[in-house]
Amino acid sequence: METIVRDPVCGELFVWEKAATVLSYQGTLYYFCSIDCSKRFLRAPTRYIQTKQVLSGVPQKSILVGVRHFLSH
Ligand SMILES: [Zn+2]
Repeated sequence: METIVRDPVCGELFVWEKAATVLSYQGTLYYFCSIDCSKRFLRAPTRYIQTKQVLSGVPQKSILVGVRHFLSH
């Protein structure tokens, strides 16, 4: 099953496995299409998280399993 996520910086939609990097910020995971986007996010996180960004309807447990898989690459 493919889970589509949204890059909070540039707004791009993509399959989470294609994310260049994943960040955990205040208990929420954010996926980025590029390292550049994640750097922009880290410079001003609150600027990019006015709304709930990602993964509505996806059980938290499967997200965590997916991230563990992702990070092991
Ligand atoms: Zn991006």
